[in-house]
Amino acid sequence: MRLGVEAALVAGELVSGDVEIVDTTIARYGLSSANGRGLAVPGFVDLQINGFAGVDFLGTDSDGYARAGEGLLETGVTSYLPTFITAPEAQLVDALHTVPKTGGAGPRILGVHLEGPFLSSFRPGVHPPEARRDPDVAIAARLLDAGPVALMTIAPELPGASELITFLRAHGVVVSCGHSDATAAEAHRAFDHGATTVTHLFNAMRPLGHRDPGIVGAALARPDVIVQIIVDGVHLAPEVVQVVWRAAAGRVALVTDAIAAAGVGDGEFALGDTRIDVREGVARRAADGVLAGSVLTMLDAVRNLHALGIPIERALEAASSVPARVLGSDRVGRIERDAPADLVVLDDGLGIERVLVGGKTRVAA
Ligand code: ZN
Repeated sequence: MRLGVEAALVAGELVSGDVEIVDTTIARYGLSSANGRGLAVPGFVDLQINGFAGVDFLGTDSDGYARAGEGLLETGVTSYLPTFITAPEAQLVDALHTVPKTGGAGPRILGVHLEGPFLSSFRPGVHPPEARRDPDVAIAARLLDAGPVALMTIAPELPGASELITFLRAHGVVVSCGHSDATAAEAHRAFDHGATTVTHLFNAMRPLGHRDPGIVGAALARPDVIVQIIVDGVHLAPEVVQVVWRAAAGRVALVTDAIAAAGVGDGEFALGDTRIDVREGVARRAADGVLAGSVLTMLDAVRNLHALGIPIERALEAASSVPARVLGSDRVGRIERDAPADLVVLDDGLGIERVLVGGKTRVAA
């Protein structure tokens, strides 16, 4: 099957010509075609998503995953990590048991992102403080037994963090630093020890100071760390996004940190057991107004980043191949021969015309 596109984004470059899919994979690209339309880009990969379309992953069932997955496909997401914030161990274990083995007719589920419970009590955001724990390998082992944990956010300055990082790495779990009060020295130690990325850079961590650079300064200064950012116009000022980009282009991963309200609209929603109010597209804890995730879609994150002056090819990579790299995946997030045909076809206005997962069309405008 040929897609009928005018060009494709291959290894960060626009390559003219059509794309051919055989069964589930990409067979060829750059094929001459007279009247191709649209641009084929790698399907988006979201590393941090708490919910979508009214579904909160921490408290849903397989129907909920199906409903959220359908909504996510319409925004171009073809792979994601359902993300659970800090919660009591029994609740996390239940939620891990509920994760579908495959994405079914929806996007691929590449594993779970556990954002907690080993986080700093100084930087909790809206995570419930009573469920927070210091790093504990026995708890981590039980969580890994309960379901497919792919990524874990931890505060690396906490006692026992080094041992936990060693354990997680040995079990193939990617370690991200976040919700943390770590100094730069503590962050460097974690990166040297096997942490490879930072969860929502700047948000819920020690601020960047000129003599106290913290995780932010350490991560931006080292070329081996991928930084994840929420580009929704709320979590980071535009100048900060531009500075992050100038420091770390090529190792910036867009995440949505979306909650159940995403794809729905304003109203009252749940994030775990916490009530969240969404007004004018901003999600805050009902009790005190602390920011509580976003209602961002990955497509809008790409558009927002591009609107700040970042070339569209680079913005699209930040939503696909870079987050895939965090997971060490050479399967998803790119257009190349024999890669899974997880693709989005965009029109000239960056609107979605078609979404394919494994060569099957799931969304057609
Ligand atoms: Zn967070």
